[in-house]
Amino acid sequence: MLDPALVNANKTFAEPLPQSASIPVVLISGDGIGPEISWAARRVISVACPQIDWIDAPAGAAVMDKGVVTGLPPETLEMIEEAGVVLKGPLATPQGSGGKSANVTLRKLYELYGNIRPIRSLPGLKGPYAGRDIDFTIVRENVEDLYAGIEHMQTPDVAQCLKLISRKGSEKIAHLAFALARAEHKDSVHCATKSNIMKLTEGLFQRSFEAVAERYPDIDAHHMIVDNCAHQMVMRPEQFDVVATTNMNGDILSDLAAGLVGGLGLVPSANVGAEMAMFEAVHGSAPDIAGTGKANPTALILAGAMMLRHLGKALAAARIEAAVKACYAMQEDLPVDVAGPGQAGSTQAFTDRLLDALSDVPNTAEDDDLAGELTSHMEAMPVREARVERRFDGVDVFVEWSGSVEALAHSMRNAAALGAFRLSMISNRGTIVWPKRTAHTDTVSHWRCRFRAVPMASDAEQRIHDLLYAIGERMRWMHVEKLEGHDGAPAYALAQGEASAAKTNRREERLQ
Ligand code: NAP
Repeated sequence: MLDPALVNANKTFAEPLPQSASIPVVLISGDGIGPEISWAARRVISVACPQIDWIDAPAGAAVMDKGVVTGLPPETLEMIEEAGVVLKGPLATPQGSGGKSANVTLRKLYELYGNIRPIRSLPGLKGPYAGRDIDFTIVRENVEDLYAGIEHMQTPDVAQCLKLISRKGSEKIAHLAFALARAEHKDSVHCATKSNIMKLTEGLFQRSFEAVAERYPDIDAHHMIVDNCAHQMVMRPEQFDVVATTNMNGDILSDLAAGLVGGLGLVPSANVGAEMAMFEAVHGSAPDIAGTGKANPTALILAGAMMLRHLGKALAAARIEAAVKACYAMQEDLPVDVAGPGQAGSTQAFTDRLLDALSDVPNTAEDDDLAGELTSHMEAMPVREARVERRFDGVDVFVEWSGSVEALAHSMRNAAALGAFRLSMISNRGTIVWPKRTAHTDTVSHWRCRFRAVPMASDAEQRIHDLLYAIGERMRWMHVEKLEGHDGAPAYALAQGEASAAKTNRREERLQ
């Protein structure tokens, strides 16, 4: 729906459906509180938009128990591919070990690259932010970053997760965020990153955002370090209109933001891609309250409203949103997470109340076809590829070692004695420990040995194998990273203390 390059591939976004046509939507009811809130959402959405043709699809824990490790059986995937739209209850993820998250798998299978999470105050809610009229949207990158799920045990005691950020993925999110700001007549987009620490990964997201911002001169673009962004969200949430951020940052920021407007039970989300869209609550399966009638279905119902808008049913969406607001303003039968014990209604009582409120919202259909709205606000997205002059600088080899750093350095220098490389430093968990220890580093058995290509060795890149062979004869190595210079500058991070150690070395060399 939101990628202009592909928008016409999906006719539902380009052409509003005729009123009488049935609209297929796959419903995954989910785990834990999923079935309760999905049933509530289905009842409300079906009244607001009777054309929805629900297709129940199995997924999640029950399917995993039958041996489908992904939690997503092939028939469910077929249904999703056919319909192109999913309303999904929360799916539980095995913690710590076991299969991957079915939620993440769905996002990745269908390249649902953008996660739109509106954070809006509802009337009548109590708490420190009551009456603050908070209204902003987090646009979270949805498929890259640490959630690419590339993890390895480097040694039995050291684990690694690769954080992958691409220029293309980052630019797509920036376009989505600016288009959303335009569509919702908002003034600004903030980009929240940790680029001060992760200069290459989070920095690439920031730089991509800034490049895309130039194409939207009508919208103010700001960058904020993500920890400050969290602080600012708590102190002055009104300053935000749209916040674009990386996957992990967005995951955490959106739960925090949900807390500002009454909690996880209230915040919906849309996972959007070029050909598919999936709507769900921000929250998970809340197993602690499953089956108790305490689950708040508001988030999933509001996700249903986002889905209806996506399907061109803007009036039905607006009616649901108006009915939700009316219920919260009335303060009757609100679920326990917002009403508190003793005054709360059950999931079902709240849903009945909502259906009553819905019948009071006028059904005067005029602008029922806002399909394609968001894409119409998006500037063209040329695929930009950086053109840089590349230079081979050397190689980082990660080794397992339990002796002293001096003995390790001795061994590594011997391994490099073939002539193409020179051992330039050793770090442990990112901090330099050789040739100079610049900090009080507690070491573990996982070391990074940085070898610089000797300037005269023009074939150094081809001789990495020789180096690895020589290292492998001495100890176990587990990971290799090539070092490149781009346009003359290192395209890799220096170890903590490496820059100052290099400066000291140069000074000492000059003094000798
Ligand atoms: P969670 O399910 O979001 O629940 C955290 C807490 O928030 C619950 O214990 C409950 O608090 C409250 N809560 C959440 N949704 C609520 C609702 N609709 N109504 C009332 N209260 C609600 O987070 P979790 O316990 O960390 O995760 C549980 C499982 O869900 C995990 O397997 C996780 O992987 C999965 N998960 C799935 C998704 C998804 O499907 N997209 C997202 C996040 C997590 P009280 O204890 O105060 O009642």
